[in-house]
Amino acid sequence: MSAGEAMQVLVINSGSSSIKYQLLDPNSGTVSAHGQVSRIGESVASGAPTVEHYGGGRTFEHDGPIADHAAGLRVVFDLFARSGHDLTGEGLAAVGHRVVHGGEVFYRPTLVTDAVVAAIEELSSLAPLHNPANVMGIESARRLLPDVPQVAVFDTAFFHGLPDAAKTYAIDTKVAAAHGIRRYGFHGTSHEYVSGQVARLLGRDPATVNQIVLHLGNGASASAIRGGRAVDTSMGLTPLEGLVMGTRSGDIDPGVLLHLARTAGMGIEAIDALLNRDSGLKGLAGVNDFRELGRLIDTGDAAARLAYGVYIHRLRRYLGAYLVELGQVDAITFTAGVGENNAQVRADALAGLTRFGITVDPVRNTAKDRTARHISPPGADIAVLVVPTNEELAIARAAAHLIR
Ligand code: ADP
Repeated sequence: MSAGEAMQVLVINSGSSSIKYQLLDPNSGTVSAHGQVSRIGESVASGAPTVEHYGGGRTFEHDGPIADHAAGLRVVFDLFARSGHDLTGEGLAAVGHRVVHGGEVFYRPTLVTDAVVAAIEELSSLAPLHNPANVMGIESARRLLPDVPQVAVFDTAFFHGLPDAAKTYAIDTKVAAAHGIRRYGFHGTSHEYVSGQVARLLGRDPATVNQIVLHLGNGASASAIRGGRAVDTSMGLTPLEGLVMGTRSGDIDPGVLLHLARTAGMGIEAIDALLNRDSGLKGLAGVNDFRELGRLIDTGDAAARLAYGVYIHRLRRYLGAYLVELGQVDAITFTAGVGENNAQVRADALAGLTRFGITVDPVRNTAKDRTARHISPPGADIAVLVVPTNEELAIARAAAHLIR
C-alpha cells in the first residue's frame, strides 16, 4: 500500500476451526479484501476450498489442508499479495482482533502485548471454546506482522458497566467472587454499533435514547440500553444464557443439569455438548439454520413449528422484560442474519403490541431493502427498525481510534 492511500485496518475473527477476516478503511467502511479460512486442523479429502479470498475484484481459493491457525494466516497473507494488497507495507495501520471474553480485566479496546495475551489466555476458563482460538489468531498475526500494532476488542466490553442488580446471579457471593461468576454479556460490539446507528437514524443524541436491540444470528442476544449505556442483556457468564439460538438452549432451569447428571449419568462434557451444540433450533427441529427451519415449517413439519414457537416465545419474554426495565422506550431494533432478513420473525416477535405503541408496518417490514430502515409506520410511538450490524467496521474503528 502506497502512502496517501486510505487508512487500512485488518480485522481478524479467529474461531476454533475458522478465521474470518476483512481489510477495510475504518473511516469510509470500504472493504478492499475479505475472506475466510475453514476447517483448520481437519483432514480435507475433497469438496469446498479451505481458504476463500476476495480482493481486487477477483476470487482466490486454496484447496489444501490447513494444519493450524498460523498456517491459515500464512496462506491468507499470500493471497493478499496476489490480490494486490501488501500487508507488510506502511499502509496497514493496525490489526483488530475480536476477542470473546474480557472478564473483569478488559473493557476497552486494548493494545496487545505479551502480558495482554497471557491475560486473555487466563480468561479461557470463562470461555473455553473461544478465547484459546482468539489467542491463536493474535499470536499468528503478531508473528507475521511484528511491526503493526495489534488491538484486541472484547465482546463483553459494552456490558462491563451493567448495573449490579442486572449482572449479579443470586448465588452465594463467596462462591461467585472466588470463580468470577457474574453476568458478562456478549455480542457487545454489535449491540454498541447498532445502538449508535439507531441514534443516528433517529437523528438524536445517543445519550437521550432508550432502546432494545435484538441481535438474532446463529447466536442470539437481546440488550436494553438507556442513554447509550447497556443496563441489561440476555447472555450471562457465557454466551449460553438467554434467547433460543441455532444450537444453544438459552435459558434453562439449572435443575435440568442436576437432573441429567443424577438420573441420566451424564458428565460435564456431555451436558456441555448437549446445551451448546445439540440444543436450540437444532435440538428441537434438527436444523440450526433459520432458512432450513422455514422450509421445514412450509412442509408442515410439527417439530419445526414447535421450535419456531419456542424461539418467538422466548424473544417476546425478553422484550416484555426490557420494556418494563426501561419504562420508556424509543426504539426496538432487529439485527444480524435472522433479524435483518426474516420479516416473519420480526412480525411475530412484535405482534399484538399496538397498545404498547409498538406496530410493524407489513409493507415496510417485507420491503426488499438491505439498508438501515424503519419498519414501524410513520409517527409510531416506538420506532421499530432493522439495522445491519457490522462488527468488523466497529472493530476497525476501535483499533484505529486507539492507535491515533
Ligand atoms: P452468526 O451468529 O454465525 O454470525 P448470522 O448473523 O450470519 O450468524 O446469522 C445466521 C442466521 O441468519 C441463520 O439462521 C440464517 O438462516 C439466517 N439468515 C442469514 N441470511 C439470511 C437470509 N438472507 N434470509 C433469511 N435468513 C437468513
